[in-house]
Amino acid sequence: MRKLASIQTVNAVEPIPNADAIEKIRVLGWWVVSKKGEHKVGDKLVYCEIDSLLPVRPEFEFLRPSSFKPAQTDASGVETLPAGFRIKTVKLRGQVSQGICFPLSLLPAGAPDEEGADATDLLGVRKWEPPLPVGMGGKVKGGFPGFLPKTDETRVQVLEAALLRHQGKTFYVTEKLDGTSFTAFLRQGEFGICSRNLWMDEADESNVLARVAKGLKLEEKLRAAREKLGHDVAIQAEVIGPGIQKNKYALKEVTLRVFSVLNVDTYRLVDHPVKLAVLADMGVEPVPQLGMIMLNHTVDELVAFSEGTSVLNPQVQREGIVLRPLVEEYDEDIGGRLSFKAINPKFLLKYDE
Ligand code: ATP
Ligand code: MN
Ligand code: MN
Repeated sequence: MRKLASIQTVNAVEPIPNADAIEKIRVLGWWVVSKKGEHKVGDKLVYCEIDSLLPVRPEFEFLRPSSFKPAQTDASGVETLPAGFRIKTVKLRGQVSQGICFPLSLLPAGAPDEEGADATDLLGVRKWEPPLPVGMGGKVKGGFPGFLPKTDETRVQVLEAALLRHQGKTFYVTEKLDGTSFTAFLRQGEFGICSRNLWMDEADESNVLARVAKGLKLEEKLRAAREKLGHDVAIQAEVIGPGIQKNKYALKEVTLRVFSVLNVDTYRLVDHPVKLAVLADMGVEPVPQLGMIMLNHTVDELVAFSEGTSVLNPQVQREGIVLRPLVEEYDEDIGGRLSFKAINPKFLLKYDE
C-alpha cells in the first residue's frame, strides 16, 4: 500500500540558485522546497507525498488559498471523498517541489517515530482522486475482481534501494498515457470489463469502456487468444480520446492502448515479447514502446528520462514512463510485481489540477 504520509529523514539539503529565502531538501527520492535553515540533514519529519489530500484541520488552513478541494459525492449524493487540501507538484524559483513536510510534533503523542512509519491514517490523509469523468457511469457489477491484479504503478522516488538492487537488468520502457484504466478478461468462459476500481456491466453502453470493448470486439478477440495460448487471458489498457482526461492527445476517436496481457489462470503477466505478438495477432495496439535500457540509473536520471513529448502527439508533454523487466518478477519493496513509473514534472506542472 502506498504510504501517502510517513516518517522520513532529510537526506540532503542544497541551495537553489538565485533564491536566498528557500532551499531544497531531499526526502526519499523527492526534492521538496523549504524555508532556508528549517531542516538539516538527518532531521526526522512527517512527509506527505503529492496526491495527498490533507484533512480540514487548523494546522493545514494555510493551504486553503492554494489547495482547497470540496467534498466529492457520487450520483446518489453519497460522499466519496471528503473536503481537504490537495498536495500537488509546484515550481518555486525554477525548482520543482514535490510533497510537503511537517515537524514530528504534528503527530499525536505516542505515535510511532521510526523512519518509514506510516502516518497516513493517523493524520487522516486520503489519496486525492479527480472527480469521476462523464461517461464513466453505467451499471456496476461489483468491486474489482480478486482474480486479477489492479493496475497501479509505484513511483520511482520511493524505490531508491530497488534501483540499486536491480542494477544491470534489462527493462523495457513504455510511455505512460493519461487516460483511464481499463481491464477486459475472459475467465472460465465469462467475459468481463473493469474500470480502475470496479467491475462494470459490459452490456451497459452508457459506459465508455463498454462501448470500447464492443467496438473493438474484445470478447471475440480474447476467446481467440484463449484458443491460441491455452489459458484464460486478460488485457489491461489505457482508454484515451474525446471525453477522457480532456483528450490531451487530441484524438478523433476513443481507443485503447494495452500495457499488460495476463494469464488469468496463473495471475501472471505474459512475457513482454509474447505480449507484443499476442497483441499484433489480436489487432490491438500496445502503449508506445520507447525501447530497452540496462538499469544503471538514479532516481533523478529516470525523472530526467521521463521528460519529453508524447509519441501520440508531439505537441503534448508525455505524462511519464513505465519501466518493467521483460519477464515478471517480484520486488520486496514494492511488495508485488517489479514495475514502476517516473512522472514527467513538466506534465504535472502543466496539467495536474
Ligand atoms: P489515475 O490516473 O487513476 O489517477 P495514475 O495514472 O496516477 O492514476 P498510477 O497508479 O500512478 O495511476 O499509474 C498506473 C496507471 O497508469 C495504470 O492504472 C494505467 O491506467 C496507467 N497507464 C498508462 N500508461 C501506462 C503504461 N504504459 N504502463 C502501465 N500503466 C499505464
Ligand atoms: Mn495519479
Ligand atoms: Mn492515469
